Amino acid sequence: MNYKIETTKVNKSRLSEIDFDNIPFGKLFSDHMFSADYIDGEWTNLQIIPFAPIELSPVNLALHYGQSIFEGMKASKMNDGTPALLRPELHVQRLNASADRMCMPNVPEDLFLQALHELVGMESEWIPQKEGSALYIRPVMFAMDAKLGVTVSDTYKFLIITGPVGPYYPKPVKLLADTQFIRAAHGGVGEAKTAGNYAASLYPAKKALEKGYDQILWLDAKEFKYVQEVGTMNIFFVIDGKVVTPETNGTILKGITRKMILHILKDQGIDVEERLVDIHEIVEAHKNGSLTEVFGAGTAAVISNVKLISYDGMDMEMPSIETHKIAHMLKDTINGIRSGEVVDKFGWVVPVKKETANF
Ligand SMILES: *Cc1c(COP(=O)(O)O)cnc(C)c1O
Repeated sequence: MNYKIETTKVNKSRLSEIDFDNIPFGKLFSDHMFSADYIDGEWTNLQIIPFAPIELSPVNLALHYGQSIFEGMKASKMNDGTPALLRPELHVQRLNASADRMCMPNVPEDLFLQALHELVGMESEWIPQKEGSALYIRPVMFAMDAKLGVTVSDTYKFLIITGPVGPYYPKPVKLLADTQFIRAAHGGVGEAKTAGNYAASLYPAKKALEKGYDQILWLDAKEFKYVQEVGTMNIFFVIDGKVVTPETNGTILKGITRKMILHILKDQGIDVEERLVDIHEIVEAHKNGSLTEVFGAGTAAVISNVKLISYDGMDMEMPSIETHKIAHMLKDTINGIRSGEVVDKFGWVVPVKKETANF
């Protein structure tokens, strides 16, 4: 289906004010955003409008009770200058899975993709050219009913916001395997990219920071024994040359980077296991030297090396980052596929459609 998306352009682009050599993460946004309203059971007011504040009622349901979900993805320019997306269909599918869990309406896949193509095409000059930089894309949906009372909202707003992000050179991180706080329990909302998960993580993360760690390595809610994930990244361990990652069992966010990593590893004939990962197994593997790499994986950083894990009062130093061959290979492969330097043999890259774009 082809949707009619009304476009209102800014009078003057802010593009010339941007210093593309120094882009702070998450603070700069492009000129336009996509906006749609869910009213009377359908998405209407489909439009691309200038990025600007929106009006909310003080009794907006999302503010009070948290019906709010989001996605995070990136657009980059291929070597020939064509803007491209990476597996956008998986992002809309996950958005809709989050929506189902939070009693929110789905966004039709074709509407999401058309809006994305039109918006990214229109904002293509906002895509930074430097290696490793990208246009970060933040789809977000939230309740719009203005009333109090814990109920499912009848109305929603869906926005797609974009903003340039600089090359992300994440410092190797120190993780605290926390045995006091949890992120997600079976039956909860851990698998949904919903606002409350992140609000609930702020206090434990602050405590971890005060102790000198960068982020929390979440353990399961029942026994504080099985590894789940980190902040906004899934976690991978290399033990005896085999890559091990926690299985997604309802408490872990199903990362799209995680999915691509599993695919690349299998394609390269590297052994991978998705299963329960007991933190004591990690302690043992660290002790006997079979644990050679630990890394987090997510859209923002792609791969983030882990240099230390603290558990039960023990600080376990990981082998030096230079030796993390699998982590480096994965990062180069995913970034390479994105830029066109590595052949996209899996067909993951989706060039932005020229007919819908103004570039
Ligand atoms: C977004 C997110 C991830 C990573 O998912 P990607 O699709 O790879 O970006 C992992 N864990 C959590 C909690 C997240 O919110």
